[in-house]
Amino acid sequence: MDTEEIRTDICVVGAGPAGLVLALLLLKSGVRVAVVERARAHQREFRGEILQPGALALLDRLGVLAGARARGAHEHTAFRLVEGDRVLLDIDYRALPAPHNHLLSIPQAHVLDELLLHCEKYDGFRYLDGRRAGSLLSEDGRITGVGADGPSGAVEVRAHCVVAADGRFSKVRRLAGIEAGRSDMFDLDVLWFKLTTGDRDRAGRQMRDVRVYRAGGSPVLVYDSWPDRVQIGWTLPHKGYQQVAARGLEYVKEQLALAVPPYAGLIHEQIRSPRDLSLLDVFSGRAERWADDGLVLIGDAAHTHSPIGAQGINLAVQDAVLLHPLLVESLRAGDAGAAFLSAFERKRAPDIERVTRLQGLQSKAMLSHGAFATRVRPKLARLLKYTPVYRKVLDRIAYGNPSVRIAEECFVHHGQERRSR
Ligand SMILES: Cc1cc2nc3c(=O)[nH]c(=O)nc-3n(C[C@H](O)[C@H](O)[C@H](O)COP(=O)(O)OP(=O)(O)OC[C@H]3O[C@@H](n4cnc5c(N)ncnc54)[C@H](O)[C@@H]3O)c2cc1C
Repeated sequence: MDTEEIRTDICVVGAGPAGLVLALLLLKSGVRVAVVERARAHQREFRGEILQPGALALLDRLGVLAGARARGAHEHTAFRLVEGDRVLLDIDYRALPAPHNHLLSIPQAHVLDELLLHCEKYDGFRYLDGRRAGSLLSEDGRITGVGADGPSGAVEVRAHCVVAADGRFSKVRRLAGIEAGRSDMFDLDVLWFKLTTGDRDRAGRQMRDVRVYRAGGSPVLVYDSWPDRVQIGWTLPHKGYQQVAARGLEYVKEQLALAVPPYAGLIHEQIRSPRDLSLLDVFSGRAERWADDGLVLIGDAAHTHSPIGAQGINLAVQDAVLLHPLLVESLRAGDAGAAFLSAFERKRAPDIERVTRLQGLQSKAMLSHGAFATRVRPKLARLLKYTPVYRKVLDRIAYGNPSVRIAEECFVHHGQERRSR
């Protein structure tokens, strides 16, 4: 098959939350966008699915939240740290201003499909799925495009600028010779699986929450996942799972049942083989630089976060929102040089550092032991709830940087841009 050649304004690699939000913002601004995505459908199992209020507000403003929610989602009003039957920490999202005063558990496919639906309304959009980016095109030392191949055919996309939104193992980042900056601070094994709850205790779950059960040094994340499942993530020290698994599946199930007693029955009933469990390598990192001549990195490709505190999607969406006006300006000025594009990193890096520090504190709260952690801290947390510090921490967890706004002044289309064909 011949290689298809495409010329566009911006080539985005990766149709995750960062890539598709950026694509939609650029399309609304009259910019032509090609998105290269290796998968053919957004049906991958292990995507993060808890959205914080910051991402909800931005997706709502973009006009995609209602459609995404209509595909199916659960609201959660609180984040709780639990040990046995004691609640050690209770973060109540209802203290935030409505309507986005909750966490939303929503399959990422529901958000991505809705974003895609909106992007497809624009003539300037090309969606190149089923194609894996495998090479960077360059002229005179600057990146000018991407080569991609896969079941949908080979393609070469030439663009004013390439955006690497291809996730934590970013191929584009590697091709550009940029180090991932992996840090071992949050190196974890996460055993990730879902159990079907069916209609069981539906009434009791009118008020849903995201829970972390502190079980020794291995906290377990639990939340209701749409439609009738519960998502469980057992975090272990990096390579720690090997030792547990060596003692056999029954032992693993016993440990899990001890860690999350309310689900002991379902664990024994539904985990029948190691194939029912997925082991994920989770880490954090920050790429050594986020821009090159003709290239900029966003989302997990630029900074990867541990799943602790469910921050990754919030940050990816906000990255797109912040990069959008810079790319519009870059096109206008005809400048996609590293010096111009690195303004994004200068603006965004302090936010990322603050969130990483906060995740460090959250992770300590989950892992620490002893009388202070189990007896004194819950009392302290209850008292703190009525102080401005608590509100500041809640705002940081919920919004990241609360001042991130969509640059609507760049928009040239306001909703009537349906394709004629
Ligand atoms: C176990 C786990 C649980 C998590 N839970 C949460 C959570 O509850 N809430 C939360 O906010 N965050 C969570 N996260 C993090 C969150 O999923 C990510 O931060 C977020 O998805 C990053 O978005 P992104 O668009 O930057 O990258 P991604 O979502 O990773 O998207 C990258 C896209 O690029 C595509 N791609 C990759 N390589 C290529 C290539 N060579 N060519 C073409 N396409 C390519 C991929 O197929 C993918 O579609 C979790 C992460 C893990 C590992």
